[in-house]
Amino acid sequence: MHNEPAVIYDFSTIDFETPGKRHYRLAFHLDSAWGYSLAPLTVVRGAAGEAPGIAVIGGTHGNEYEGQVAVKRLCQDLDAEAMSGLVILIPQLSESACRAGTRVSPLDGVNMNRAVPGNAHGTVSYRISNFVKTQIFPRVRVVVDIHSGGREAVFPLCTSFHRLPDPAQFAEIARAARLFGTPFLFVYSRQMASGLLTDEAEDEGKIAIGGEFGSGETVNPTGVLHAYEGSLNLMRHYGLLPGEVRSIGAANQRQRLIQAPHLKDYRPCPRDGVWEPLAAPGADLAEGELIGRLHDFSDHSSAPLEIRAHRAGVLIACYAAAVCPKGLTLFVIGEETEFPA
Ligand SMILES: [Zn+2]
Repeated sequence: MHNEPAVIYDFSTIDFETPGKRHYRLAFHLDSAWGYSLAPLTVVRGAAGEAPGIAVIGGTHGNEYEGQVAVKRLCQDLDAEAMSGLVILIPQLSESACRAGTRVSPLDGVNMNRAVPGNAHGTVSYRISNFVKTQIFPRVRVVVDIHSGGREAVFPLCTSFHRLPDPAQFAEIARAARLFGTPFLFVYSRQMASGLLTDEAEDEGKIAIGGEFGSGETVNPTGVLHAYEGSLNLMRHYGLLPGEVRSIGAANQRQRLIQAPHLKDYRPCPRDGVWEPLAAPGADLAEGELIGRLHDFSDHSSAPLEIRAHRAGVLIACYAAAVCPKGLTLFVIGEETEFPA
């Protein structure tokens, strides 16, 4: 018989310490009615010994599904008897957004990945984020937050992180991020947004890894494979699971580290229009190369606006939906750089 996960009202009663695997539903009270957002959480405390803690999170954005599927599989598959250390798994962090299939929570309109470190007395998204900051982060060394492009953006399959002032932390993050076996690793600007889950984790000195494992509100099986197997590789690398790190997907695939540190390489859509993308995500572009066309149907006899690369580099992100409002990021061009030693 399958026992449903225990509902936890008092988070100090979550058992992070006893060897074994436990599934929970964390009850975050609603702001609008009597009731709860029941956020799923699984604790795997290895019985075999000590190792650094790892948290793997999916569903920070509700319309990005590869992380939700991969983390749910980890909840089922991990065997505490064979493991060391602590793994904390949250397949649907913004549980309300995941159930609605939306980027932000329909309960408070908040983007969970702009809400960290949260607020113990804020709306539901801020309280969930505050739980991560106060209950998860202190117990782990590594934080993985699995994203995909959602409705608008498409990236080549990549893990992602920021350039950090501490070169040792940056090098360790790059090493850990490579274990996901993705063809690209994307070093993006912290100035594009604030309040990210990984921002807060890296400020605490943790090994914080994000990534884009699909797009278009679908489940990309290759993305799920890399998110799932990459998480297992992390557990092997840090000694939570026995055995050697394994290659994922296409064996010996070259990995490229692409950085886009300057905001001028994140190009906003110049006017409302219908976007016809022409260059593939991950493509090498020459300066002036055609990336896509923006169509204005208020005058169907008008020529489209041709959108061309403002510089040479790699197309590391591109708008994917047809309708593109003025100001949204239409594309990002990065440059290839060396992996840190
Ligand atoms: Zn996301």
